Amino acid sequence: MISENVKAILDKLPDHVTLAAAAKTRSVDEILEAIDAGVTVIGQNYVQEAVAVADAIKGKASLHFIGHLQRNKVKKTVEVCDLIETVDSLKLAEEINRRSAAVEKTMSILIEINSGREPQKFGIFPEALEELVKDIAKLEHVRIKGLMTMGPYTDDSETVRPYFKETATCFQTLKDNPISGVDMEILSMGMSGSYKTAIEEGANLIRIGTRLFGLR
Ligand SMILES: *Cc1c(COP(=O)(O)O)cnc(C)c1O
Repeated sequence: MISENVKAILDKLPDHVTLAAAAKTRSVDEILEAIDAGVTVIGQNYVQEAVAVADAIKGKASLHFIGHLQRNKVKKTVEVCDLIETVDSLKLAEEINRRSAAVEKTMSILIEINSGREPQKFGIFPEALEELVKDIAKLEHVRIKGLMTMGPYTDDSETVRPYFKETATCFQTLKDNPISGVDMEILSMGMSGSYKTAIEEGANLIRIGTRLFGLR
């Protein structure tokens, strides 16, 4: 089933869009089935789960961290992940920088935007983005590659469209006003229920769980 699901989505994706399989709670076998069917990016929310699959997928797919990252988990995350999508503070970026320097790595990151401005959610508010990007750009072992957002949780993908639109505007603004040491290449938005809308609004990385693996 996973293989069919992956192929059905990949078939319809525009060439410039990358599918990340959001793999929380899934087994290594399920993840490998998705990779065999064509998935090139695995997203993990929990450091233990990222560590558990890292060896099995090495050389087959890249590993993105897509959950909320606690500072005491940064060391492991830096060791096993290729991209951290959820950086939302200078303090977290500084810890990533410190741990990356220690293993002579430059860690690619996305800045997570709290596009819904929901107090209980992670991510930085759009109005604070530019200052954060400028501060993080100074860190030698961290490289900003783009932006990520979740948007408010809803069953209706039209409800979330304005939040994707605002995040895409932030992305474009940073692209149009380049900051040294920052690459605005990746715009990660959209999940099972909202990825089509996200692509319409400019996403080039989508994170899909349920539609590939079934209900959790
Ligand atoms: C689980 C998860 C997804 C995928 O959600 P689905 O609705 O299952 O497709 C995407 N992004 C993040 C950050 C997630 O935690």
